[in-house]
Amino acid sequence: MEPDPATPPAGGTAASVPPPPPSSLIFLGTGCSGALPDTRCLIRPGTPPCHVCSMGLSLPPDQNPNYRLNTSLLIDYCHDDGTHKYILIDIGKTFREQVLRWFVHHKVPSVDSIILTHEHADAVLGLDEVWVVQPRNDRNDFEQIPIFLTQFTMDSVVRRFPYLVEQKPEDGDEDAQAAKIDWKIIEEDVDKPFAASGLEFVPLPVMHGEGYICLGFLFGRRARVAYLSDVSRFLPKTEHAISKSGAGQLDLLILEANALHGVVSLSYIICHLFF
Ligand SMILES: [Zn+2]
Ligand SMILES: [Zn+2]
Repeated sequence: MEPDPATPPAGGTAASVPPPPPSSLIFLGTGCSGALPDTRCLIRPGTPPCHVCSMGLSLPPDQNPNYRLNTSLLIDYCHDDGTHKYILIDIGKTFREQVLRWFVHHKVPSVDSIILTHEHADAVLGLDEVWVVQPRNDRNDFEQIPIFLTQFTMDSVVRRFPYLVEQKPEDGDEDAQAAKIDWKIIEEDVDKPFAASGLEFVPLPVMHGEGYICLGFLFGRRARVAYLSDVSRFLPKTEHAISKSGAGQLDLLILEANALHGVVSLSYIICHLFF
């Protein structure tokens, strides 16, 4: 990412040229799959909600650190010419609410690229809402939105969203328009970077429970950011890629830890203990 531009020199004509706004990261959600407060905790008969879920209802969501939606990051990438591109990592079950809360607040008009970490519901079930954030070109026509995903995730998306892959309205809804999507297959390989909206991303495969791989990403031109969600165990190549001896010193590590489903969900515990 590009940090805030340097302070312009005092005096002279340079002071009259406003610096371009910087790039930034917007955390659309930092919660677990079910989000917080946990609905199971709230509706369980005979047992009062836990302290965290009670606090999750005690204040309006925009003032409440215990009201947390599905894990997702929006990168507001400012190009050298001052143009902003919005790159979304994961579009889960709570995406509509994330648009209502954060797109409106930060005046984000659309999404230019989407990257998927894996195919679980809290990472992909908002795909049905892509049409809401579809970008437009200079003639105000809808543009295709590229979605980057592995072949494994694509196979799952084909089964769950056939109308998005075939680019046609759902049966019985001929008047509706399907989102225009350009599906782009990426590799689970740190040596196979790709570019989304002009920004390079290095895939960082990690274990999301044994036998299931999820992708994190390394990105940033002037500052190096590693984003890793749903991590149960690091793979040696990824560990090397984000180490000093690999890609060099990271400026920011964003890590959501996880554990084997069915045993214990560390992200769930973190949600409940630390916020
Ligand atoms: Zn609870
Ligand atoms: Zn998952």
